[in-house]
Amino acid sequence: MTECLFCKIANKEIPSSAVYEDDEIFAFKDITPQAPVHILIIPKNHIKSTEEIDDSNSAIAGKIISVAAGIARGMNLDGYRLVFNCNEIAGQTVPHLHCHLLSGRAMHWPPG
Ligand code: 5GP
Ligand code: ZN
Repeated sequence: MTECLFCKIANKEIPSSAVYEDDEIFAFKDITPQAPVHILIIPKNHIKSTEEIDDSNSAIAGKIISVAAGIARGMNLDGYRLVFNCNEIAGQTVPHLHCHLLSGRAMHWPPG
């Protein structure tokens, strides 16, 4: 039994508002949205963060971005930001790889 929150969400042990699903990927609405559109795209298999991405598993990272772009196209988003926080110092609070898809308001650079 996994103790990982996002593994449990991907396994439907914890309910979420699903946006997209296939064999490898699950996408769902963030519970504390930071923008009018805030969707999390995750691999169903547990990967801790981008720190664990290398040549052996980079296809899943590409697929996460492809799914994010597809969701954005499907929603006709004018523009959006994709964010992978890696490790606590960069703001990662859930240690299961996830891509934030943020849109629906103006965004600024650099981030805080
Ligand atoms: P991080 O800070 O790790 O990059 O992002 C984790 C995100 O997961 C946060 O934006 C947070 O709001 C979201 N989150 C945390 N717990 C839950 C939950 O139980 N359900 C959903 N849908 N999102 C969650
Ligand atoms: Zn996990």
